[in-house]
Amino acid sequence: MGFLEILLEAVYPSGIYCISCGSMIDSSRDYALCDSCMERFHWVGAKTCDVCGKILADDYGHRLCWDCRQFGHDFDKGYTCVQYGLLERGVLMDYKYRGKSYIGRKLGQILYDRMEAEDVEYDLIVPVPMHERRRADRGYNQAEVMARVMAGKKNVPCAQGMLIRKKATEAMKGLGFVERYENMQNVFAVSPENHYTIAGKRILLVDDIYTTGSTLDACSRVLKEAGAAAVYVLTFACGANVPPAEMRQHL
Ligand SMILES: [Zn+2]
Ligand SMILES: [Zn+2]
Repeated sequence: MGFLEILLEAVYPSGIYCISCGSMIDSSRDYALCDSCMERFHWVGAKTCDVCGKILADDYGHRLCWDCRQFGHDFDKGYTCVQYGLLERGVLMDYKYRGKSYIGRKLGQILYDRMEAEDVEYDLIVPVPMHERRRADRGYNQAEVMARVMAGKKNVPCAQGMLIRKKATEAMKGLGFVERYENMQNVFAVSPENHYTIAGKRILLVDDIYTTGSTLDACSRVLKEAGAAAVYVLTFACGANVPPAEMRQHL
């Protein structure tokens, strides 16, 4: 824990207040969520997209989500924990924009439990990198905090220096699938100094949110080019499964 995190932990002890609504809770809870928030979160259920892992409604009549029915992906399979709604958004906003890095440790626990429920093996965990300048502004990379928690629990390396982000990209809110894809071209590279062997490795890429998958696809492409045997992607939250015309309004 860094000095700032220790201070924050003292001011906002992570185990005593619900990370979503702030009500007091029993400190032994793994996710630091109260009963009411646990119930109101849109947790992943039985039905998910066979490719990207997006949460599907029970009465949706296909095995693939709307965008996976139209476009392919560069990763092998995706997994997610919750669908992005008001409560989930609130937690992510606190985590990413209000300096509450301790929330990442709770989300890391959720991500870990999510993958333990699947029969998937991986050799390395790679957080989606932020641009250096943005990381310096925020003080932490939200994907990396979660990835480190997972790596510690799973006892596999967290290769946080493996990928580098060459360009800071603008927020992609309002962009369609193709525009997002184009926006993410040549953004990521495998670090020349990276000391991990990628060839033949099964990689778990970790990020906070999955919308169309363009960021995760871009990372997966460079990892596959460097010889990764498989790339799985794991996010805390996914966007709703909505028809393509509505994608632009979403998130
Ligand atoms: Zn709560
Ligand atoms: Zn899908």
